Amino acid sequence: MAVATALYHNFIGGKWVEGKGGVLEVKNPADATEVVARFSQADQGQAKQAVEAAQAAFPAWKRTPPPQRARFVRKALQLAEERVDQIARGMVYEAGKVLSDARGEVMKGCNLLEFYAGEGLRLMGDAAPSELANNFLFTKREPLGVVSLITPWNFPWAIPCWKLAPALVAGNTVVYKPASFTPLSAYHLIKCFEDAGIPPGVLNLVIGSGRVVGNELCSASKVCGISFTGSNEVGRGIEQMAKEHHKKLCCELGGKNPCVVLEDADLDSALAGVLRGAFGAAGQRCTATSRLILVEPIAEQFVQKLVEKTKALRVGPGIHDDVDMGPVIDQSQLDAILGLIEAGKREGAKLLAGGKRLTEKGLNKGYFVAPTVFDHVDPDATIAQEEIFGPVLSVIRARDFDHALEIANRTKYGLSSSIYTRDINKAMRFVDGIEAGMVHVNSPTLGGEAQVPFGGIKASGIGDREMAKEGLHFFTELKTVFLDYTGGARKSNIY
Ligand code: NAP
Ligand code: MG
Repeated sequence: MAVATALYHNFIGGKWVEGKGGVLEVKNPADATEVVARFSQADQGQAKQAVEAAQAAFPAWKRTPPPQRARFVRKALQLAEERVDQIARGMVYEAGKVLSDARGEVMKGCNLLEFYAGEGLRLMGDAAPSELANNFLFTKREPLGVVSLITPWNFPWAIPCWKLAPALVAGNTVVYKPASFTPLSAYHLIKCFEDAGIPPGVLNLVIGSGRVVGNELCSASKVCGISFTGSNEVGRGIEQMAKEHHKKLCCELGGKNPCVVLEDADLDSALAGVLRGAFGAAGQRCTATSRLILVEPIAEQFVQKLVEKTKALRVGPGIHDDVDMGPVIDQSQLDAILGLIEAGKREGAKLLAGGKRLTEKGLNKGYFVAPTVFDHVDPDATIAQEEIFGPVLSVIRARDFDHALEIANRTKYGLSSSIYTRDINKAMRFVDGIEAGMVHVNSPTLGGEAQVPFGGIKASGIGDREMAKEGLHFFTELKTVFLDYTGGARKSNIY
């Protein structure tokens, strides 16, 4: 990839505005000597201006009928579909994804745009009978006002799609701050909306650090709602700010997702699902499989095959066709993963594959970690409890189904989960008993679909679910209407 010379800017009030907060160089995690793109960052004052632009645009946008608002989303979708390859390639270079994964993510985002474009025709309330004759009760959905959207780097296209589209369709105006690692995907998304003719100020993009720009977007008095996806640490800070400044809040946070394999499972299919779950996107998915819970009768045989397949995974820059797994995002993430691997060894888990940084054949220029498997991990060990966000799988052995379920629930997180079994009774007992927002039967812990809710319980989420109707409802307030058509004949008091 050629060295990037163009300087991208912030989108405020319908114009591309040069930031006053210094230049951000986006580096390729597969080769950190390569600058992928350069962005001028907004300073705090410009973040404020973006909020003001959104506030100024709000009254007219609120008055625009929802089906008309949704047409901008539909047009942006058409443009995104024409640009899939460009968007996906940008994502490979800035986020370190494998190209097929990046394409899949762009298409997933397009599904979400499609779903929410349709929701413009279905922004419905309820109707209810009244206690009183010739009276009618109904609810209608109204936008919150200006909303701030703050997103992580690991799904730099799909996550903003699933926040932006419902926010806009519901009639909110938006200020969007992407992760500093991945502003290029954000630029592509905003460009689709600009080219779709979205009115000035309805959608604003500010590039800049969480500390400066993110903080302003969470505390500005004119912001009514915050939708955040990212780490628990940052999410808890945002929760405090939202409470203090009385803002509606939705946070999607981390996970420590278990996959249980029982003795009657289709073991080949389970193995393929575990490999995808643990090592797809180098384990940097909130829904990644990070704990594999095996029942004793099959544990030895399963681990043997797992290690064999893990060692055969091809690691390298995601732009090459023959690569299964790319790099992790940066030096600090690399250091954190290697630190947790050391903790795994120290606490007595058995390292069976990987466990180190890869540096041969040019990989030293990027942040590559060998796909790593630990066996005989204690369910309470650090690597069984902490989110690693890297290609590290902790295998825990269980006596039987009940023990496996108990171990699966023994973390603070509750995002996704999975079980492989042919026994419908055990599958359904797992569905009932697992403490997680999402459960997969005979498929990996990964993924979501636009039309069903996405999110977690316990420490994995705060507030409403995202995607589906629930994702739209977060961006609305319900107004209850009491309509009296007695023509003044109503005499009785109401208590
Ligand atoms: P992160 O470090 O928490 O950052 C997320 C976003 O918050 C970034 O845009 C970041 O900006 C911003 N930010 C940082 N400090 C802030 C502050 N004080 N105020 C406001 N905003 C601030 O998360 P990440 O490392 O990008 O992403 C990985 C995490 O996201 C993992 O824990 C993963 O599990 C979680 N995740 C969850 C889901 C889900 O749906 N549950 C989905 C994907 C990822 P900068 O980039 O400028 O620092
Ligand atoms: Mg981070």
